[in-house]
Amino acid sequence: MDKEELWQTVLAQIQFNISKASFSTWFKNTGITSKKEDKVLISVPNNFSKEWLENKYGKLIFKILHGLDNEIKEINYIVNRSGLKIKKPSFSVKEIPQLEFEEFKVDKETNLNPRYTFESFVVGSFNELAQAAAWAVSQKPGLVYNPLFVYGGVGLGKTHLLQALGNEISENFSKKNVKYFPSEKFISGVINSIRNRTIEDFKEKLRQIDILIIDDVQFLAGKEKTQEEFFHIFNSLYEKNKQIVLSSDRPPKAISALEERLRSRFEGGMIADISLPDYETRLAILKTKSQERKIFFSDEIYEYIASNIQKNIRELEGALNRLMVYQKLQNHTLDLESSKNLLKNIVSPPRRAISPKKIIKIVADFYELKEKELLANSRKKEIVKPRQIAMYLFRKELKSSFPFIGRRFGGKDHTTAIHAYNKILKEVKNNENLIGEINELKQRIYSV
Ligand code: ADP
Ligand code: MG
Repeated sequence: MDKEELWQTVLAQIQFNISKASFSTWFKNTGITSKKEDKVLISVPNNFSKEWLENKYGKLIFKILHGLDNEIKEINYIVNRSGLKIKKPSFSVKEIPQLEFEEFKVDKETNLNPRYTFESFVVGSFNELAQAAAWAVSQKPGLVYNPLFVYGGVGLGKTHLLQALGNEISENFSKKNVKYFPSEKFISGVINSIRNRTIEDFKEKLRQIDILIIDDVQFLAGKEKTQEEFFHIFNSLYEKNKQIVLSSDRPPKAISALEERLRSRFEGGMIADISLPDYETRLAILKTKSQERKIFFSDEIYEYIASNIQKNIRELEGALNRLMVYQKLQNHTLDLESSKNLLKNIVSPPRRAISPKKIIKIVADFYELKEKELLANSRKKEIVKPRQIAMYLFRKELKSSFPFIGRRFGGKDHTTAIHAYNKILKEVKNNENLIGEINELKQRIYSV
């Protein structure tokens, strides 16, 4: 790849990571001026761009360039006021081939994204129960399974399924008032309306809903006020035979800090899980997505992806997208070797770097504490437990010494760290909630 191709490829990837507006603002008139051994010099039109590219997109640019050519180790930026001296690129930024990714045209009334449909949802044994239940609900909302509770790991299709259900109802029952909320939005809705003293209006609006869909309800855990309001809304809708649909990354009984009365409400309807797709289904999903975009690959490439990417459907899709970008960009059919090369970071991703700071931040966020609280001396139960978990993660994931852990947590003695570690180690053997929490924490630690 020469330096122009290289840069165009970088741009094509960046496009998928940031908004269109930022893209054209920050990447207009940029280019690679030189590439010498492990150093790349990128020219930008002004200081302002330079700062943004360096500070905000520097890591992303490095990751992509290094992924394309792992000799590249250093990137510098230079302001080139006289316009770019580099040879005219084969196509300008504006004309980079856009894959037809539907934009996020989220419906303002329902919050639903029309891209999620039942037609585009591939069914296999791993998700057929959930799909059948969602379909049944979409045909007779409020009359079959209420509430419908779908759970499963990240990237396995919960959001897709819930939104497909919502879209299907909107289409067939135009008079029904459908509303989709990611949990965070529901939570902030409650909090803001309490702050603005409009909680009664807020609740009144929710009571008008015929189909209430709340995605990722595990985030309601520990939010007492929100749970309280949700409980009342739930009851009032339920009594009127309105449909409620919920999703979570774990079954209701594994969501700790969920009020008992809410948990039993959730368990009162239909609970369906989505597990991992098997090889055949992974292959079917890849081919369906290819068909949708009308970009095709040889069978050995689909097979390679399906056998090497097993974690979830989102990653499967990510790998396919990556190949699609290249194929479209280079305008010729990719072979297996170059596909393998392009996917090497996805297939065996380098383990992400973790640090003490990161663990503290993630644990504090997860339990909604301030980092300071986690590190101080409070003996409050709701702080002690997260603190012990954080210490446990230091030991397990960072292999930190006990004296180090003690010091890092506000100058405590190493025996405190040993005690915390042993306590969690013992508890984690038979406490299902704790296992769930620690897995979730680990996932967060290794995914950002
Ligand atoms: P979750 O909400 O469980 O984290 P998503 O619903 O966001 O997962 O799914 C991740 C991606 O995988 C989405 O782009 C979605 O369209 C796609 N996907 C998930 N399940 C399927 C399926 N059964 N068939 C086709 N695409 C799917
Ligand atoms: Mg989701």
